Amino acid sequence: MIDAKKIRKDFPILDQIVNDEHLVYLDNAATTQKPTAVLDTIRYYYEHDNANVHRGVHTLAERATHDYEGSREKLRKFINASSTKEVLFTRGTTTGLNWVAKYAEQILKEGEEIVISIMEHHSNIIPWQQAAAKTGAVLKFVYLNENQELDMQGLKQAITDKTRFVSITHASNVLGVVNRVKEIAEIAHEHGAIMVVDGAQSTPHMKIDVQDLNCDFFTLSGHKMVGPTGIGVLYGKEKYLNDMNPIEFGGEMIDFVYEQSATWKELPWKFEAGTPNIAGAIGLGAAVDYLEELGMDEIHAYETELVNYVMPKLKEIEGLVIYGPDDVSKRSGVISFNLDNLHPHDVATAMDMEGVAVRAGHHCAQPLIEYLDVPATARASFYFYNTKEDCDKLVDALIKTKEFFN
Ligand code: PLP
Repeated sequence: MIDAKKIRKDFPILDQIVNDEHLVYLDNAATTQKPTAVLDTIRYYYEHDNANVHRGVHTLAERATHDYEGSREKLRKFINASSTKEVLFTRGTTTGLNWVAKYAEQILKEGEEIVISIMEHHSNIIPWQQAAAKTGAVLKFVYLNENQELDMQGLKQAITDKTRFVSITHASNVLGVVNRVKEIAEIAHEHGAIMVVDGAQSTPHMKIDVQDLNCDFFTLSGHKMVGPTGIGVLYGKEKYLNDMNPIEFGGEMIDFVYEQSATWKELPWKFEAGTPNIAGAIGLGAAVDYLEELGMDEIHAYETELVNYVMPKLKEIEGLVIYGPDDVSKRSGVISFNLDNLHPHDVATAMDMEGVAVRAGHHCAQPLIEYLDVPATARASFYFYNTKEDCDKLVDALIKTKEFFN
């Protein structure tokens, strides 16, 4: 069982006063806080082991390489990839999706199709727009059903034998809905398409098994799962990564360099040109250790409990519109809303005065915001260190905000 009150001791940042109120941090979909175990690991690395990886034979270089590659193995196990060859360190989800879209540019032919959904983050839209523009492929969107879930019927119609890539978010950063990506992968594969999953909002909150999902690519961001910024993972099936050209060229990724040509290292290093984010990767390994110690199933169950607790209270607030499905079993800990006719920025500012940190804006999902026909939304997003008291404070702050503006 998750004991959030005890866990909060690992996150000193949460114990602070903001605008004369105890901080209630509910912007976890944007980024999560880091436990001391992760901070200590990064500090320890720089104080004891700092050296460049792969190249040196001296002791510090061996230690740094051991820890960097050790982290890769931790990540492999965490998402259940079959080999570390399939685990590429990136800057985060955005980089991962850009790399896959570059591969798309390599293999797409004019008239072939890419299928994505209207609820995608910009980082799962724009790289595909670019790939379509460069190759003459067609970018198709799938929309929502009446419950503001992905329209699976529409998805089945959109995917055809011309579809080469299907790229869908596992969990929406606006609607909070969790998509049935395993089922979508099956449909994609029936048509010979490559299935890409944006796991930025799912990996921090539930057990991920890329082999079970049977996706071909999967991306995650370290900073959304108590790890550092500037580090993430792109998982890809070995057969695709072997076929995929390196994205960047330079040191570290080569086998031999001749005057007019070069050959590449084997996977995964073929994709990691230059000095990597060593401390970031090691810090992400520590984040994985921390999450595994808590248990991903326990984290998921606890967050569901929080959402089950807060949803009925939120629904009692007159004038509060909540986006995404009503059915809590289909949701993650992301709750987007609008209050009366107030602009979400005003709502978020008023809530900040109560110490409650929520986000407001388009959440890097402008096509979805347009589709919902709203100017923006406010968004509260939970993590395992949030408590029922945090939920109550969210509700109180919303009621006070409503009173303040009326
Ligand atoms: N995809 C989704 C669903 C997200 O929520 C985010 C970040 O908010 C991203 C992709 C981009 O992640 P990053 O900024 O870490 O690259």
